[in-house]
Amino acid sequence: MKKTARQPKRRFDLLQEDRASSILARDINRDIILELLRLRQPIARVDLAELSGMQRSTVSLIIEQLIEEKWVVEGAMVRTPRGRPPTMLSLNRDLAILVADIRPSQATLAVIDLNGHFLSREVVRLASDPKIGVSRIAEGMLRLRSQHKQGTFEGVGVSLPGRVDPETHQLILAPNLSAKWTKFDIKAALERELDLQVEMDNAANACLLSELWFGGMQNVRNIVVVTISEGVGTGVLTNGQLVTGRRGLAGEFGHIQIDPAGMLCSCGKRGCWETFASSRAALRHHAELLPKNPSENIMDLMNRADEGEPAALKAIARQAKYIGVGLRMITAALSPDAIVFAGDITACWSRVESVIRAEVEEGMLAGSAPELLPIGDGETARLRGAAALVLQRHAGYHRSTA
Ligand SMILES: [Zn+2]
Repeated sequence: MKKTARQPKRRFDLLQEDRASSILARDINRDIILELLRLRQPIARVDLAELSGMQRSTVSLIIEQLIEEKWVVEGAMVRTPRGRPPTMLSLNRDLAILVADIRPSQATLAVIDLNGHFLSREVVRLASDPKIGVSRIAEGMLRLRSQHKQGTFEGVGVSLPGRVDPETHQLILAPNLSAKWTKFDIKAALERELDLQVEMDNAANACLLSELWFGGMQNVRNIVVVTISEGVGTGVLTNGQLVTGRRGLAGEFGHIQIDPAGMLCSCGKRGCWETFASSRAALRHHAELLPKNPSENIMDLMNRADEGEPAALKAIARQAKYIGVGLRMITAALSPDAIVFAGDITACWSRVESVIRAEVEEGMLAGSAPELLPIGDGETARLRGAAALVLQRHAGYHRSTA
């Protein structure tokens, strides 16, 4: 019986093909094998070779290494009509990753396996003092680890509302956390407490990685993730590459000025896109429209809109219009295939979608507008993305823009 051999595509281009060293080529092959295992497990070596188009000896070498590192386990042999029965391979379910999604007031912690499944989850409150906040995260992670005694922990992934320098691994920009956080070595503190290697990245990049590793966007080469909550963040994949720029600071569309005389932004400048399009901006729009009865928080505002309060509807429409204004910059600058939304805005997507879409279409210079899609559950995406940070370290993916 002939199987349909579909060549897997890589999620990222590590380097231009002609510049790829043999070490990187081996990492790419390993990544492809891991992806096939995740999608097709249990699977035999011979099928991995056929599906990947690699030589059987290459597949065997990679599998040997993955078994030695406990990423892959051998399972039952499967009866075949003739010949030696092949041993089936699966990802090791007992291998797990500790993850944290840090937000301004709280952090969600979880244990995730190699398949992206959640084994447990808990929330810890944070303090404006990062020393206290990070020690609560470490305590929570130690608790989670003690609940999974049978598991082997591969590393720690952290999603943050800010930018992390890829060289120094320090948080260097986080306008929505207190200023102390950018002076605190989060990575060193967690590594000391947990004795595991820690990977950190921006929340929007984490959502992007989650879509690429565990979502349905494995073959899309140009995606922008826009997170709209307390602030506005973006993660950019262009020509198959995650864009980091110098010191990891690329993609701060939220802090591009759209009104020089505008409000003071959390970054210290005036009139940034974020001050018009974030959840905080929606609350301000509402307070301007209904100063005597402002909404308490974004959920309150959305509830009022659901109840038909005119000021709430107007405030959200104004926010949506400004989101569209900013997306015109993004489409003109990057021409993405898709723009994926995460954060508070997804909770009122049906209300804002048409306004945002009309604004983006209006701004197109040529061709059709990109797809606009909400991520169902932003927190899950950020946590899975944090796990992907650890996975890609092992898959040999380097974030430096070589
Ligand atoms: Zn700003």
